[in-house]
Amino acid sequence: MAETVLQVDHVSKYFAEKRTVVDLVRGRKQKYLKAVDDVSFSIEKGQNLGLVGESGCGKSTLAKCVLRLYKPTKGRIVLDGTDITSLEGEALRNIRPKMQMVFQDPSSSLNPRMNVHDIIAEVLRVHHVVPEEQVDSRVEELLALCGLQKEVMGRYPGEFSGGQQQRVGIARALALHPSFLVADEPVSALDVSIQAQILNLLRSLEEKLGQTMLFISHDLAVIHHITQKVEVMYLGSIVEYGATEEVFAHAAHPYTKVLMDASPKLDPRDRKRTYVIEGEPPSPIDVPTGCKFHTRCPYCKDICKNEVPDMREVASGHMCACHFPL
Ligand code: SF4
Repeated sequence: MAETVLQVDHVSKYFAEKRTVVDLVRGRKQKYLKAVDDVSFSIEKGQNLGLVGESGCGKSTLAKCVLRLYKPTKGRIVLDGTDITSLEGEALRNIRPKMQMVFQDPSSSLNPRMNVHDIIAEVLRVHHVVPEEQVDSRVEELLALCGLQKEVMGRYPGEFSGGQQQRVGIARALALHPSFLVADEPVSALDVSIQAQILNLLRSLEEKLGQTMLFISHDLAVIHHITQKVEVMYLGSIVEYGATEEVFAHAAHPYTKVLMDASPKLDPRDRKRTYVIEGEPPSPIDVPTGCKFHTRCPYCKDICKNEVPDMREVASGHMCACHFPL
């Protein structure tokens, strides 16, 4: 049976809205921004799970909960069999090396005053990953794994292209042998010409190291290229999930369909749009009743405005939360 690395059970993260003096005087009720709302999923060892949705849908907040940069308001997060939901202080610090992140903007995540060798060696030393005499060779190995030659070790982040900086960031993240890696929009700040190189690198890590990954992107083409399973997120909730090939071939939720139609196509014969998304997503402070997507859905019926659709299976392992799946 496949080993579960990460289990996320009914996780929510709410932020209290700032209240003005007028709100207090008038006794207005405290409102909450529901950035993540009752999300569950699991990632098995060696699996790359994609999380896709428009910007502001809660993807990055969910990632921060999973990494325990935020404490969830509700729910439970289990990493390698340990419940990390409420860990604090030293217990939390001890678990951090197991979960690493690849950032969207590599230039801001690397210390500009440290050379590449020192950026990676620092991580190895602080966490005592290898004995001191093996630090240099381990730095070399990690750079080679990420497609960089040892000659770059003395250079500084500012001397690199965005793609090379991202390679250094990935090498640093791998230095701790993390149980899982969160890649949050890792190619969106890069030139299109080098995006594919970084995606191929991440895919090769999965093949060579069996690296487990949560891959976050607003770009469906990227998710399709790199993940085995995908979760589609709308306004803090998962609305559809399943094997990536199945979901891309038979999208069942109108929102997924809309995202797919909005995604740029290389083949001009494939540019016909069947579904068009209307307007901006509603505020996560005033979430619509019933189906959260009903204010923008071309298939909305009365029931959608009042009743929250259950998540149900539309094909083997393919789940969708819609009263009228496509
Ligand atoms: Fe559209 Fe209704 Fe399905 Fe929501 S439940 S996505 S409003 S058809």
